[in-house]
Amino acid sequence: MKQTDQTISVCYGTAIFPVSVQKNSRAKRVRLKINRKLRQAILVLPQKASFQTACNFARSKAEWIARQLDCLPEKQIFHENMSLPFLGNTVLVHHSLTAKRGVWIDQNVLWVSGKKEHLARRVQDFLKKSFSVYSLKKARQFAQKINVKVQRVTVRDTVSRWGSCSKSGRLNLSWRLVFAPLSVADYVIAHEVSHLCEMNHSSAFWKVVEMLCPDYQKEELWLKKNAAYLYSFSDK
Ligand SMILES: [Zn+2]
Repeated sequence: MKQTDQTISVCYGTAIFPVSVQKNSRAKRVRLKINRKLRQAILVLPQKASFQTACNFARSKAEWIARQLDCLPEKQIFHENMSLPFLGNTVLVHHSLTAKRGVWIDQNVLWVSGKKEHLARRVQDFLKKSFSVYSLKKARQFAQKINVKVQRVTVRDTVSRWGSCSKSGRLNLSWRLVFAPLSVADYVIAHEVSHLCEMNHSSAFWKVVEMLCPDYQKEELWLKKNAAYLYSFSDK
């Protein structure tokens, strides 16, 4: 099980980076990774590893940490007049102080009512809800094609996976797929639905995926290349 133990500081030049140290009983070796959502380095530590050795390891990788964080696309906090990718389209965010309709889309404008200081959070809530509605509908369409049943789709802000699926037909998906091209979001949904036929990544599984999504390799490549971009959007 993962647990956050503490945060250490790693210096590179004049910059100081916090590194979160996490003990993980399943980890086999000391490992550094970047959490794109938190924009922070994580040091994964096997249960038996010495804390001091791990810290020395992180400090020896200061340049790598600096470079990785530097490569991340600029954070994009939702704001007025922002152009936003949305389920394969582009929408423009506009604030309406007088309207009392919550958040809605009209001709490629994403209107947000209420106080301006709540705009970013309300945009994010709307995006999550929209992706939740879209992905449930899409998942059920895919499920019907291969004769399986989707019970529920939950959207979350996942970190290490875009989606997951339980045997009982419950899917978890990253709401950030709302920013991806529709074909990419559809691929992730098709991938998870296909697990209801094959709970593994065998060739039989990929045959099911291919049936639902013939270009799945192209979509997977897009996700690999653009993961940091999907994580660059934020409400704060
Ligand atoms: Zn899978």
